[in-house]
Amino acid sequence: MSDIIQLLPDHVANQIAAGEVVQRPASVVKELLENAVDAGATQINLVVKDAGKSLIQVVDDGLGMSMTDTRLAFERHATSKIKSAEDLFNLHTKGFRGEALASIAAVAQVQVKSKTEKADVGTSLQIEASRVKEQQACVTPKGTSIAVKNLFYNIPARRNFLKSDAVEQRHIIDEFQRVALAHPKVGFSYVHNSSELFHLKSANFRQRIVGILGAKTNEKLVPVEEQTDYIHLKGFIIKPEFAKKTRGEQFFFVNNRFIKSSYLHHAVNAAYEGLMRDKSIPSYFLYIDVDPKTVDINIHPTKTEIKFEDEHSIYAVMRSAIKHSLGQFQIAPALDFDR
Ligand code: ADP
Ligand code: MG
Repeated sequence: MSDIIQLLPDHVANQIAAGEVVQRPASVVKELLENAVDAGATQINLVVKDAGKSLIQVVDDGLGMSMTDTRLAFERHATSKIKSAEDLFNLHTKGFRGEALASIAAVAQVQVKSKTEKADVGTSLQIEASRVKEQQACVTPKGTSIAVKNLFYNIPARRNFLKSDAVEQRHIIDEFQRVALAHPKVGFSYVHNSSELFHLKSANFRQRIVGILGAKTNEKLVPVEEQTDYIHLKGFIIKPEFAKKTRGEQFFFVNNRFIKSSYLHHAVNAAYEGLMRDKSIPSYFLYIDVDPKTVDINIHPTKTEIKFEDEHSIYAVMRSAIKHSLGQFQIAPALDFDR
C-alpha cells in the first residue's frame, strides 16, 4: 500500500488526456477523418449538427474493425499503427498515439458501427464517458461509422467554454479542408445541419484545390515542382496579383499531413520578394515528401508542428523552386504541367 499516492482510474486518466487531444469539435473531426484515411477509405462522409456540439459523425468505407478491435480501439494507447518506438520514425499513417478514440469517448457519447470485409455481421458499440453501455452484432456495410454526440456533456466547464456555432463551424471547415487537400484521391462529403457544404469526388491535386476554393481559383494557380535527394516538393502557388491581405489559404503538407511552419512560410514569402503589392500574403498548397526517418512528428499531440532533420535545405529548395515557377510563369504564362 502506498501512503498517499494512488493510480488514477482509467476514466479519470482518459478525461485528463482528452484535454490535450480534444480541444473543440474540430479536433474530433480531425481525428475521425484521419482514422478513416488510415483505414484506407475511398469515400468519407462527415455529418455535423450544431457546429459539432450535438453531433459529429464520420462514415467511411475503409477496412472496418472486428468485434474485439472495436472495443479495444477505445482503450488508451491502443493502436494498430505502430508496434515499437522505432516505428515512430517510419510512419505511413496519420495516427500512431492510440489516444484519440479513448479521449473522445471520455468526453462524449459515442456510437460505433463497423464491419470488416470478411466478417458476416458487423458490430455496434455504445460508449459514454469511457463506459461501455452496450455492444452487439448488427447489420452494417463494410467500413466504420462513428457518431460522437454531445461533446463535453459530462464536463460543463469545457462545454460552456465552446465558442459560438459560427466560430466552431469555421474550425471544423478548416480541419475538413486540410484533410481533403492532403488526400485528393479520396472522395469526401460534408453535411452541416442537413445542407451539403462540400461534395468532393476523387481528384488530382489541382482539381481538389479548385473543388474546395471554387472554380475561379483554377486560373490563379501556378504549379511548382522540385526533386532533390532529400525532398520531393510539388503543388501550387498563387499568381502574385491574386495574393490576399488576409491569411487562410496557406497549406503545407509533409508526407500528406497538414503542418504549420512559420519558417517555411517565410521561405515562400522570400520567393515572392519584389513581386507583391504591399503586405499581401500569397496562397499556397505545397506538398513536401521526405523520408519519414527525417521528420519527428511526435513533438505535439495534435501533430501540426513537426521537426525536420534538415529544415534549412527544405527552406532553400522551396524558395528557389517557387522563384523559378514564378519566373517561368511570367515568361510563358500558358506553361502548365498538370498532374
Ligand atoms: P491511432 O489512430 O493513433 O491508432 P485512435 O484512438 O485514433 O488511435 O484509433 C485506435 C485504433 O482504432 C486505430 O489504430 C485503428 O486500428 C482503429 N480505428 C479507429 N478508427 C478506425 C476506422 N475508421 N476504421 C478502421 N479502424 C479504425
Ligand atoms: Mg487516430
